[in-house]
Amino acid sequence: MPERYGKRLGRGPGLARAHERGDLVKVRCMHCNITRHYLPAELRQLAGDATCDEIRARMRCERCRLKEYLDVDFVLPTAAERVRIRLRRLVEVRMVRKIVWRDE
Ligand SMILES: [Zn+2]
Repeated sequence: MPERYGKRLGRGPGLARAHERGDLVKVRCMHCNITRHYLPAELRQLAGDATCDEIRARMRCERCRLKEYLDVDFVLPTAAERVRIRLRRLVEVRMVRKIVWRDE
């Protein structure tokens, strides 16, 4: 089993510490039963030095779009586990132009 520590320490360490340790960020949607693994350094570009709780609050499942069923952990897989894990990599960040109107 991968080592889990994100939840035990209450607020817990942030993505910077997870990156230093060589952890992966494991995000599981219990509704869809999908698990995705991310690199802490890539999530940090989007969320800063966020903890597991803060990541959970900001993410949505890409399939069901729900937040309520997400479980976020920092995990340190063994070398054998790491080989089998498929990483979800950051390709780009698109800035979307949003138009806001007001009636006067
Ligand atoms: Zn889902």
